Amino acid sequence: MNVTTRREFLGGIAAFGTLGASGCAGLMSGSGQPGKLPERGEVLIRNAYVMTMDAATGDLADADVHVKQGAIVAVGRNLQAGGAQAIDGRGMIVLPGFVETHWHMWNALLRSMSGDKREHGYFPTALNLGKAYLPSDMYQGTRLACAEAINGGITFVHDWCHNIRSPEYAEASLRALRESGMRGRFSYGAAQGHPASETINLADLERLHRDWRNQSNDGLLALGLAWRGVSTGATGAVAATAYKQDFDTARRLGIPISVHANNRKGSDAIALLAREKFLGKDVQVIHATWVSPEEIRALADNGCPVSLSPYTELRIGFGFPPTGELLAAGIPVGLSVDTTALSGNADMFAIMKAIQNIENSRANNEFKLPARRVLELATIEGARSMGVDDRVGSLKPGKRADLVMVNTREVNLGVFSEPAHMLVEAAQPSNVDTVMVDGRILKRRGRLAAIDVEQTVSEASSALAAVRKRAGWW
Ligand SMILES: [Zn+2]
Repeated sequence: MNVTTRREFLGGIAAFGTLGASGCAGLMSGSGQPGKLPERGEVLIRNAYVMTMDAATGDLADADVHVKQGAIVAVGRNLQAGGAQAIDGRGMIVLPGFVETHWHMWNALLRSMSGDKREHGYFPTALNLGKAYLPSDMYQGTRLACAEAINGGITFVHDWCHNIRSPEYAEASLRALRESGMRGRFSYGAAQGHPASETINLADLERLHRDWRNQSNDGLLALGLAWRGVSTGATGAVAATAYKQDFDTARRLGIPISVHANNRKGSDAIALLAREKFLGKDVQVIHATWVSPEEIRALADNGCPVSLSPYTELRIGFGFPPTGELLAAGIPVGLSVDTTALSGNADMFAIMKAIQNIENSRANNEFKLPARRVLELATIEGARSMGVDDRVGSLKPGKRADLVMVNTREVNLGVFSEPAHMLVEAAQPSNVDTVMVDGRILKRRGRLAAIDVEQTVSEASSALAAVRKRAGWW
């Protein structure tokens, strides 16, 4: 009996309420309350086209992947694993799960709500509606974002949480992340409309840090700082005393830092960060669409990773991601969703395609950014940019089992030609057949296994309606 069949069978029983709360791992209970996550079993994916994204191994046609207790045991041909559950990989591309590197998941409730007038632009929309959020809205938004992520093959997210209005808001977002089973980083930030003269709630950040074992979902989630930095927000430039204290606290706790910078013409925020010694391996810079050669050198010299989110950068007019220049300087580059209020959706296939197309067009060169290089940015390079490449980002024995199976027999992928090109140019989330995070199967045969999509969407819709009403936003 394969995984899906067993889950559907047990799920059917659970729906009739015959199993107790402690009964079956991996199920939604009949009341729609989230149950435990699926168990990490032993699985053998057989006869797939395996793109390991590991430089030494490369692609393996007609190959197997053996997963046990959340780890990759072996990748190769004709593997034997007697007790493992077999999954037929014929017609499938197996690759590492996508690593997403910056996403304001709470505002997934605000999908496509950046309007056409200045007062309805992204920033006023996020500010005015964000102020009307309750902790439960953080949960609803983050859960919706997680559902969309898993559906599209994203297995790692960087939740850049900048609407923490009290400790309950952070708790609610973290609960949604834990329940989803995703791997990721939760970066703790300010609230929308937070006074520019004040630090974020550093006592709460320290509390979470102390208590992180109870938040991390067995190490799947890490804590970071969503730093306001030297950029100007809706409430004005952040006071130096406040941003310094925020930064110093993160450094003292030893947690990574992330900051938006240089998304407007004329910005020299990265130069300022470099001058004031705010750069480092542990400081991720987001956007950098208006970056000078000197600033690129500073990022490279300090080992700063950069996160690019082409669909929000294009949509809001931040300009074009300077992918080629960053890569040429040896800077770790990751790809990101940023916010579905602007991008509409969280489609990593489309993000990869945009990154490639923009770069080739900027360079007037068909060959500038090869598809396989873009695929690296969405997997192993993205993992490197988030500091998790020792655990995920490629399919290699000893790494954690975060992987995706893409069904190449669907109409938009029909004719198996060049796999890297197919994934970057032709594939879309609906082609994602199976998603595994840390050995848990979270999507199988095109259906989410641990999230009830209907319930998630309907509750998110009700939450948004109430947020709009409280904000007087119609
Ligand atoms: Zn952002």
